[in-house]
Amino acid sequence: KYKSYPYERMQKIREQNISPSLRMYYKKPLLLHQGHMQWLVDYEGQRYLDLFAGIVTVSVGHCHPKVTVAAQKQLARLWHTANIYMHPSIHEYAEKLTSLLPDPLKVVYLTNSGSEANDLAMFMARLYTRNFDIISLRGAYHGGSPYTLGLTSVGLYKHNVANGFGCSTVRFLLIFLIIWVTCSCSCVCHANDQYIEQFKDTLNTSVPKTIAGFIAEPIQGVNGAVQYPRSFLKEAYQLVRERGGVCISDEVQTGFGRTGSHFWGFETHGVVPDIVTLAKGIGNGFPMAAVVTTKDIASSLAQNLHFNTFGGSPLACIVGAAVLDAIEEDGLQKNSEDVGTYMLLELAKLRDEFEVVGDVRGKGLMIGVEMVTDKDSRHPLPAEEINQIWEDCKDMGVLIGRGGLYSQTFRIKPPMCINKKDVDFAVEVFHTALQRHMERAAAK
Ligand code: PMP
Repeated sequence: KYKSYPYERMQKIREQNISPSLRMYYKKPLLLHQGHMQWLVDYEGQRYLDLFAGIVTVSVGHCHPKVTVAAQKQLARLWHTANIYMHPSIHEYAEKLTSLLPDPLKVVYLTNSGSEANDLAMFMARLYTRNFDIISLRGAYHGGSPYTLGLTSVGLYKHNVANGFGCSTVRFLLIFLIIWVTCSCSCVCHANDQYIEQFKDTLNTSVPKTIAGFIAEPIQGVNGAVQYPRSFLKEAYQLVRERGGVCISDEVQTGFGRTGSHFWGFETHGVVPDIVTLAKGIGNGFPMAAVVTTKDIASSLAQNLHFNTFGGSPLACIVGAAVLDAIEEDGLQKNSEDVGTYMLLELAKLRDEFEVVGDVRGKGLMIGVEMVTDKDSRHPLPAEEINQIWEDCKDMGVLIGRGGLYSQTFRIKPPMCINKKDVDFAVEVFHTALQRHMERAAAK
């Protein structure tokens, strides 16, 4: 049965009938058959440890039994109401979700994707402040819709169409490079000052005196688990509010306990945003997303109708509630902290052993491993060399993500149910792939 899908036939259909903008991972992309928790199985029967969770989306585990049963039951009862009638699921889900957020973040809008959530957040910021300009950070990914593309500054996603009017990007150096440039012998790090200077420069030169808002991921995901200097976000929030803007935290990747120490990424920075956007892990792979904001901001949108056909369907809300239950019952936030910290420490040993492992960073199960030619120059390792290490890991049964401006960073963001034995296996595989890389380099 596994072999009843000839690979070549799938490839042919892909070439003829599927969006050519979708880029496949690996020289021979995987043809997947099923998933269970942190594992994926392809049509050849080969099992893989999934360290990328369908791009940081499978939060509690592939086909998690609790979520699957909840969805199955609801599928047989009622899928859809378009929210023109009441159903308990949306009420109970909104109550449950907001109980996890601090005051005054208590009003929920349910949407279907992260882009849609950020679109709505931008719209709200503009309506509420009556200003137009929004600031985002270099390396951010906030969506692929025409509105959010203005906030996204990952080169690959920029098309030759004018969009993003009213969006400005703060252009600072990557912190990985700044620390190298500015860390003096006395080890005083000036990265925060540089970030804030650059932020002020954007406020002073690229936008009007008053702005609609500022959006940032607590840790940049697509950019390769990039963290900011310690108090940067706190200071940036203050500067934005002084200019009349609202602060939006894009928790699409960092939310739901992934950073381990906190349930939401913004908490790790000691800030409370005015608007929070959620997607990906919120549904463990089920298409749903949310915007949570204050009563005050919500009132500006309430002056007219705002409608979303699928957002907040009974099915989505039942799935969302089961995901929250699974996070709590399976202790997944704590697991992210324990297993994530263990993994960071194990990966740091590889950084110390191999010249090409330039940086190991992140928090909880949101980890980046930046590959360089050497630790002095910190130049990105050439693509073909990174590709080979990555392919070798896949061939040995470990799937890893990629990110960063040059795709130079391995992204490790597994389902949060991963355990320390899985980490040992993954690190051993990565070690072998790095050793093979060194052998190839030596033979050149
Ligand atoms: N924000 C962040 C931080 C993301 O990583 C993504 C998706 N990569 C989005 C927003 C957009 O989400 P979606 O693909 O569901 O539209």
